[in-house]
Amino acid sequence: MTTKIIHFMLNGRLQQAEFRDDCSTAEVKDLFRAAAEAEPHHILKMYNINGSVVNISPRLDTNSVDSYYRLEVVASDLKSVGMPTELDSMEHRLQRLENKVSEEAVKSPDAIADLKSQVESFKRKLESVEHLSWMGLFKEDSDHQLSTLSPKPKTSGLSLQEDRQQVRRKFLNMSSLQVTEEVREHLKTPIFDNWQWEEAEMLVLLQVMFTDLDFLTAFHIELDVLQNFLFEVFCHYNNIPFHNFRHCFCVTQMMYGLIWLTELRSKLSRIDLLIMLTSALCHDLDHPGYNNVYQINAQTDLALRYNDISPLENHHCAVAFGIMSKPECNILKNLTCEQYKHIRGGMIKCILATDMARHNEILNKFKTMQPVFDFTNKDHKEVLMKIMVKVSDISNEARPMAVAEPWLDCLLQEFFNQSDTEKLKGLPVTPFMDRDKVSKPSSQTNFIRFVLLPLFTELTKLFPCLEEHILEPVRRALDYYSDLERAGKEETKE
Ligand code: 5GP
Ligand code: MN
Repeated sequence: MTTKIIHFMLNGRLQQAEFRDDCSTAEVKDLFRAAAEAEPHHILKMYNINGSVVNISPRLDTNSVDSYYRLEVVASDLKSVGMPTELDSMEHRLQRLENKVSEEAVKSPDAIADLKSQVESFKRKLESVEHLSWMGLFKEDSDHQLSTLSPKPKTSGLSLQEDRQQVRRKFLNMSSLQVTEEVREHLKTPIFDNWQWEEAEMLVLLQVMFTDLDFLTAFHIELDVLQNFLFEVFCHYNNIPFHNFRHCFCVTQMMYGLIWLTELRSKLSRIDLLIMLTSALCHDLDHPGYNNVYQINAQTDLALRYNDISPLENHHCAVAFGIMSKPECNILKNLTCEQYKHIRGGMIKCILATDMARHNEILNKFKTMQPVFDFTNKDHKEVLMKIMVKVSDISNEARPMAVAEPWLDCLLQEFFNQSDTEKLKGLPVTPFMDRDKVSKPSSQTNFIRFVLLPLFTELTKLFPCLEEHILEPVRRALDYYSDLERAGKEETKE
């Protein structure tokens, strides 16, 4: 454990902060909030010497007086940057509503869970108003909520259709050329913070991934077709706590990061990279928020249609090819029949591989190939591609704690919603989803020990560089949740 000294500029004055590198993110944030005399509703942003935003966490790189960070209180008072005064009172209403939702949650789970997710989504919108600015985009655009003083129709008051069209407009108004080199490089790493971006921005970043992997030129994908495709993908994710468009973005971004970190471009063909990235993008399309076990037990339409065989994954994949059946969205339309068949076959295999019921089957197959892994062997490549998509799918804990932890809340919210419904309907209750049985630490320690570490360790054998990028963060997360679990047990003993 060491003490870190961080130099930073605040309101034109150079200051320094001191903390131990084993303290929590919350403690470091509090330290800087205190220095900035920030009120609870203020948002703090830290910029490095290059002007890029950095996470305020114990992992902040130490610096010198010459390379100080810049600390700013942004969107400090929404009214002063042109937000309507009602917003303040709306925030209070939201707070009250949120309290009420928590109190009522046990009584009427379905409707409340729905309300809760709406509250969460609105809260995120409030918090993300500022974020377009640091991407260097939209400064002059009247669509940008901060750039005008006149109150705009609030997104929350718009219908789903209008809301999506607004995202589409924003997305199309931005160009991937405007994404700075820093952001492009950051996008290639697992420490990328998804929470800082709103939906239209994530669409631009996905576009950047396709362009920076040269998919547009290699597969003759027209930019407007790619944009239509990405927008349709966005529209086909549901507004649910976990399996939403942001999860899709994270999984695709991790896939993208892994491609760069492992230098996969020199080991697999570009067409295989396209299969992996597009599979990640489509892997949870139209997820209803209830897993396969529920689909089968509740005999849903999906379970009926797919005869209880991976009903969700079959559906995600069918929706993907449904989107591509429209020529204006078909990113594969300029390929030869043979190429199309190869991509379709590959995507079906990769997306069906994300059914966790097949986890051991796929991991064991990969293990048997490991000692003599052969990048020219078709079967080996196929299993590796499945493994890469699977790793990306369940990689939240490989991200910095401040990025990963909110995902766990989202996941448990969706889990609890399912188990509440199962209880109401008299269906078997999935134990790891039962709010009476699981806690955040217990859910993570088991998942990390028995699922993540064995999987990530196996992939790290093939790509040793992943040790530092995904294995170590996962080990740290295990330590963190094990400590919490122990502390919880000791508390109940007392
Ligand atoms: P997905 O449904 O996202 O395609 O497949 C991944 C599944 O793995 C999730 O539904 C969930 O059951 C599980 N999973 C992914 N990440 C985590 C995690 O961080 N903790 C736990 N307990 N389960 C996870
Ligand atoms: Mn997923």
